[in-house]
Amino acid sequence: MGVSADLDSSATSSRRTPLIAGNWKMNLDHLQAVAFVQKLHWTLKDAKHEDGSVEVAVFPPFTDLRTVQTLLDADKIPFALGAQDVSTQDSGAYTGEISGAFLAKLDASYVIIGHSERRQYHAETDEVVAAKVKAALKHSLVPVICVGETLEQREESGPTAVSVAQLQVALEGVPADADIVIAYEPVWAIGTGQVASPEQAQEVCAAVRRVVAEKLGEDAAARTRVLYGGSVKAANIASFMREPDVDGALVGGASLVVDEFAAIIRYQKHVGV
Ligand code: PEP
Repeated sequence: MGVSADLDSSATSSRRTPLIAGNWKMNLDHLQAVAFVQKLHWTLKDAKHEDGSVEVAVFPPFTDLRTVQTLLDADKIPFALGAQDVSTQDSGAYTGEISGAFLAKLDASYVIIGHSERRQYHAETDEVVAAKVKAALKHSLVPVICVGETLEQREESGPTAVSVAQLQVALEGVPADADIVIAYEPVWAIGTGQVASPEQAQEVCAAVRRVVAEKLGEDAAARTRVLYGGSVKAANIASFMREPDVDGALVGGASLVVDEFAAIIRYQKHVGV
């Protein structure tokens, strides 16, 4: 086990439902999405997640959302739906942007905000991330706020400094009773196969939880789910889920392979969890 937060997080973790979230990125069109969700549901049909002990969420591209929503609804599939980004604006002359109001109308529950690929390729600053967090909350969407350091930043300022600083800005002005999720995603572990150790994940997730305690209070910190993301696979998920401050995973590549993602969701079946 790694370093625990100052909070009695092991005592409180039983109050947090684990969340396994699949970030599809720019993969699977709406027809492929239907086949994928049906197959995943079928594969999991006897799995624990049906009893609510693990929450499953999928984050398809925008063009798939309506189709996936209709399928989840019609077939009563117990997966939550999320989007991969949201505009800071509600409506108007913002070509290419997607309003939180539109996502809420599609029954989306979650939206990923501040993914390192958005920070890197779309120059999203901590201030833009903070504005998007507010936009999501305004429309009752739960923001999945991504934080994490590059390898150079880790070497320069240590493992926690970047995530702590990013989160402090993202949580500015967020009310204490807000429903939020944080994803610690070390940039050096995303899509690289170079996974963080469970101890490394725990150390930063605990630091992240301390920021939530400082900004939003102890209750919020005990309630908020902190995920690890970065080359999560069926073979390593159980080791992360044993850590007291890791409440789930944000999964990229492995969320596109039905059997692999199903095995991640079923991590409780793996030995020793
Ligand atoms: C991600 O993009 O959020 C991610 C964690 O990707 P991967 O699992 O492929 O590293």
